[in-house]
Amino acid sequence: MKEIILVKYGEIALKGLNKSTFEDMLQKNIKRRLKKLGTFGFYRRQSTIYITPPEEADIDEVINRLQKIFGISAIQRCAVFPKDFSVIAEHAPEYLREALEGAKTFKVESKRSDKAFPMKTPEIQQELGAVILDAFPHIGVDVHEPEVTVRLEIRDNGAYLSALRIPGAGGMPVGSSGKSLLMLSGGIDSPVAGYMMAKRGLIVDCIHYVSPPYTSERARMKVEALCEKLTDWCGNIVFYCVPFTELQEALRDNCPEELFTVLMRRFMMRIAERVARRTRCQALVTGESIGQVASQTMDGLTCTNAVCSLPVFRPLIGFDKTEIMDYAERIGTYETSILPYEDCCTIFTPRHPQTKPRVDQLEQSETLLDGEALIERALTGIEVVDIRP
Ligand code: ATP
Ligand code: MG
Repeated sequence: MKEIILVKYGEIALKGLNKSTFEDMLQKNIKRRLKKLGTFGFYRRQSTIYITPPEEADIDEVINRLQKIFGISAIQRCAVFPKDFSVIAEHAPEYLREALEGAKTFKVESKRSDKAFPMKTPEIQQELGAVILDAFPHIGVDVHEPEVTVRLEIRDNGAYLSALRIPGAGGMPVGSSGKSLLMLSGGIDSPVAGYMMAKRGLIVDCIHYVSPPYTSERARMKVEALCEKLTDWCGNIVFYCVPFTELQEALRDNCPEELFTVLMRRFMMRIAERVARRTRCQALVTGESIGQVASQTMDGLTCTNAVCSLPVFRPLIGFDKTEIMDYAERIGTYETSILPYEDCCTIFTPRHPQTKPRVDQLEQSETLLDGEALIERALTGIEVVDIRP
């Protein structure tokens, strides 16, 4: 039986945006994600994209991928029949079995855009309803709140029958809101922050700081693995790996120990902002959540924020750790995040970090080193990797 897939994108994202730009972007993202599964046909109409898979396509895998593409509100699998009601009636029960076997109530909804089709809409609904009641005697009709809605569309090029509507990932197509740079650690939080911003239509590139030999190659590979997981949701990611050892050693050797963490975070922000500006990213993203650790107090955040003039998005700011962990599991990053490798944030940590740092105090400490030269050398040593799904 030939199947096609309908992708619905509703009205959510259409308000501020030119509709066709939005649709083009969504379709492009879908094409890119399905490319390796074969050559698909695309056709758009009424806030729906009709996707025709090639013969050999694994439809379950297609659906699996579509469920991770932002901008899609629902996905519907349809069987394609010739426009002959007796043929439809003969095969419908078999096709609908999975959806109807366990359900108590259903209704039939029909649309007939091909006006040459001999039956009118109410008649189609009645007749197909009767076929279903015949084949599944346990089920009843409920036109108001059915458990399953069976849809039959009579279109110019065939009749489409469906019952399964799978929820999509929601949000806006990646790329429709601009580009951001995510500060990605190996932890649980920052990948979730990246997912959230991609969901709102941002391209998410990633920057990661490493301090060899204090941090290992395996720790870096773990972060690249996280990036790969994120590509399921974010699409292509440019990964910037920044050598941070010299800066951290300079901070350790020259500045007050209790300010080490906030000073380090200010340098991370400065470097990220420069990379963002050079690569046309319009915002930074972090996985910070208020009060989670010493550097994420109000004063800590104020001090890190003070060195940066691009907007900094912190989508997890009001989330509890347990909520973030639930998200991480759901989006598939948790298992990788909990691998026990070191991060540059966990080396040289002060015994008693200052929880109420002040900007003037930090600026004073920063005069004790040549920050500008250190930043320049870190920027020169950046490695760039293209990460694709
Ligand atoms: P995460 O789980 O994301 O590591 P965290 O709770 O461990 O967060 P911190 O280690 O204080 O918190 O880091 C706060 C934020 O700083 C992270 O969410 C991330 O955005 C950024 N960050 C931390 N370490 C790095 C790193 N090595 N490279 C890039 N960004 C980092
Ligand atoms: Mg961390």
